Amino acid sequence: MTNEEIYASIFSHETIYIPPHEEKSAPLEVALGCSWHKCRFCDFAKDEFHIHPLEKIEQNIFILSQFHPDNKRLFLLGENAFVMSCERLCEILQLRDQYMPWAKEVAMYSRIDDILKKTDEELRILYDRGLRALHIGIESGCDSILEHMNKGVTSFEIMEALRRLDQVGIAYYLTVIMGLGGRTFSNLHAVETARLLNRTHPKNIWCLKLKLWEDTPLYKEYKQGIFDMMTPREILAEERIFLQNLTVENCLFEDTTVLDMYTLVGMLPEKKQELLEAMTFLLR
Ligand code: SF4
Repeated sequence: MTNEEIYASIFSHETIYIPPHEEKSAPLEVALGCSWHKCRFCDFAKDEFHIHPLEKIEQNIFILSQFHPDNKRLFLLGENAFVMSCERLCEILQLRDQYMPWAKEVAMYSRIDDILKKTDEELRILYDRGLRALHIGIESGCDSILEHMNKGVTSFEIMEALRRLDQVGIAYYLTVIMGLGGRTFSNLHAVETARLLNRTHPKNIWCLKLKLWEDTPLYKEYKQGIFDMMTPREILAEERIFLQNLTVENCLFEDTTVLDMYTLVGMLPEKKQELLEAMTFLLR
């Protein structure tokens, strides 16, 4: 086997989904698929949900350690790897101590309810063992949209989970989906999502643009004329309202899909005005 083949053998798929801010982290596959798998817009979670047995994770981390001999950060792969119990996560962190003790920091994807199901004590234990960041798709702060999209959590639960992460010092990177409320809820989506985030302390807000995937329930609604899909320009106008209402601090704002052509990135609040002007320019 070549080195490339050995490395590829520890991943189930050719493409590894890892957030942009974790591209340099060592990716350890610990689970596949999403334990929820019910959001109406999502075609991301294709695998049946599955947590790898500890023996498989041990094999993976042994091989990974050969390829990342000094990487300080480990990213646990799986659509919501944080669904694992505190005990199982600690077992994985024990393997980290054994095979990659230099990878002191750990991050992974999480759903909001994965956080809420853990006690404060468990969150603290995980922080002490190196958990430094969770990447969470909150998508919206508007309850009507969260409910319609079957996200499985409320805006109150989002706030509560993030407050508990703040308490322990675990950083969070959030994604929101512009256009998710369609034309009907556009204004509400922008204002209520900003209002919710203003009460939290995200390290990063990444705005994605809604894409309708043919194999999703939302696409069917669109075809039946129930979901009123917005144009890219309307979505950008919605995003401008969202940003106008945002008052978060020490947060990197990113939009990688502006009109499918541009990338907007800037720290908030310092770059807020510049970002708004760029949006206004693109909308002129
Ligand atoms: S929680 Fe995330 S991965 Fe799971 S179904 Fe919803 S959007 Fe998809």
